[in-house]
Amino acid sequence: MSVEHEETVTQIRDTVRKVCEEFSGEYWRAKDRERQYPTEFVDKLTELGLLAALIPEEYGGSGMPISIGSAILTAIHEFGGNAGACHAQMYTMGTVLRHGSEEQKQQYLPGIAAGELRLQAFGVTEPTAGTDTLSISTMAVRKGDQYIVNGQKVWTSRALQSDLMVLLARTTPKDEVKKRSDGLSVFLVDMREAKKNGMTINPIRTMINHSTTEIFFDNVPIPASSLIGEEGKGFRYILSGMNAERILIASESLGDGRYFLKKASDYARERVVFGRPIGQNQGIQFPIARAFANVEAAEAILEKACRYYESDDPRTGTYANMAKMLTSEAAWEAGDVCMQTHGGFAVAEEYDIERKWREARLYRIAPISTNLILSYFAEHVLELPRSY
Ligand SMILES: Cc1cc2nc3c(=O)[nH]c(=O)nc-3n(C[C@H](O)[C@H](O)[C@H](O)COP(=O)(O)OP(=O)(O)OC[C@H]3O[C@@H](n4cnc5c(N)ncnc54)[C@H](O)[C@@H]3O)c2cc1C
Repeated sequence: MSVEHEETVTQIRDTVRKVCEEFSGEYWRAKDRERQYPTEFVDKLTELGLLAALIPEEYGGSGMPISIGSAILTAIHEFGGNAGACHAQMYTMGTVLRHGSEEQKQQYLPGIAAGELRLQAFGVTEPTAGTDTLSISTMAVRKGDQYIVNGQKVWTSRALQSDLMVLLARTTPKDEVKKRSDGLSVFLVDMREAKKNGMTINPIRTMINHSTTEIFFDNVPIPASSLIGEEGKGFRYILSGMNAERILIASESLGDGRYFLKKASDYARERVVFGRPIGQNQGIQFPIARAFANVEAAEAILEKACRYYESDDPRTGTYANMAKMLTSEAAWEAGDVCMQTHGGFAVAEEYDIERKWREARLYRIAPISTNLILSYFAEHVLELPRSY
C-alpha cells in the first residue's frame, strides 16, 4: 500500500467514524424496530460523496479504486452502522460504466454521482430459479422501439428507494439458444416510469431492516434505449459486476467482525464476575482470540481480492468469492463469541449486538451462498467434476 493510499484510508476512516458517531446505536435501533429506511444516514454519506467513490472523475465521482470503496464500507460496519441500505449505489452503476454506451454514461452517471439519481436496485433473483440464474424466466420482448417486460423478481433490495434498476431478463427463450448463458440481456429501467405502467413492488418483511422487495412486471414497456450493451450478452455483463459486489460485501463483513471483536474485548475487560474480569478466564479469552485470528486471515484474502480486481487479474473471481465466504464466516464466528461473552445482555436490544448479529448472518447467504462458492472453487480451480 502506498503512503498516499494509506493516508486516504486514514482520512476516510476518520470521516466515517464521525458519521457513525452522529448516527449511533439508538438511531439504528429505532430504524430496525420500525423497519424504516435510514434516509438521514444515506443522505449524509451521499452529501460527503462517499457513495460516488468509484465513479470516474469525468462523470462527477472521485475515481477511487475498489480498495477505497472497501475501506468505506468496512469502516461503516466497524463503527456500528449498516451500509446494506446504500452499498448498491456504490457498485450497481458499474454495469453502466463498463458496458453502457457513452450516451448512457453521460445521461446517468453524473446524476448518480451527485446522488440526484438513485441506482441501487439490482433485479436478478427470481422465485423459481433461485441461484440458477440461467433459468430465470422474466422476458423482455422487442416491439418496435420498446421492449415489453413480463415476469417476477424476488429479493430486489431497495427497489422502493431507487429511481433506476439494473434488470436481467431473457430476450430469447432458453430453448432457442445454443448456450444457456446466451439470450439474457441487461436493461437500465427507469422505475419511476415503470411503476406507472405495470410494475408492482411489494416489500418483504425480514428478520433484518434491509428494504427488500418482490417485483411483478405486467406488460411493462421500456424504451429500447434502456438496453445496456448488446442484446443476448447480459449474463456476461452481470458476472463482471458481481466481483465488485462480493468484494464490497466482504468489506462489510470484515467491519462486522471488527465490531464484534471490539465489543467482546471491551466487555470482557470490564465485566467483573466472581471477583475478576470475565476476560481473565481463558474460556472467554480464547474464543475471542481465535475469532480475531480468523477475521485477520479473512482480511488478508480480501486485500488480495482488491489487488487482483484493481489489476484486472483473472484470479479476481476466485478471490472475490473467497473473501466473501471467509469474511462472512469470520464475522459470524466473532458475532457468536461476542454474544457468548455478553451472557444475557447479548440479547438486550440496547446493546446492539443482537441486531448486528442478525444483520451479519445475511452475508453467508446473499449475494451468493457458501455452497455455490465452494462448488465454484471445486470445479473451476481444483478441476473437480461439476456437481450440478
Ligand atoms: C435480504 C436479501 C437481499 C437480497 N438482495 C438481492 C438483490 O438486491 N438482488 C437480487 O437479485 N438478489 C438478491 N438476493 C437474493 C440472493 O442473492 C439469494 O437469496 C441467494 O443468492 C440464494 O438464492 P436462493 O435464496 O434462491 O437460494 P436457493 O438457490 O434456493 O438455494 C437454497 C440453498 O441451497 C443451496 N444450493 C442450491 N443449489 C445447490 C447446489 N447445486 N449444490 C449445493 N447447494 C446448493 C444454496 O447454497 C442455498 O444454501 C437477496 C437475498 C436476501 C435474503
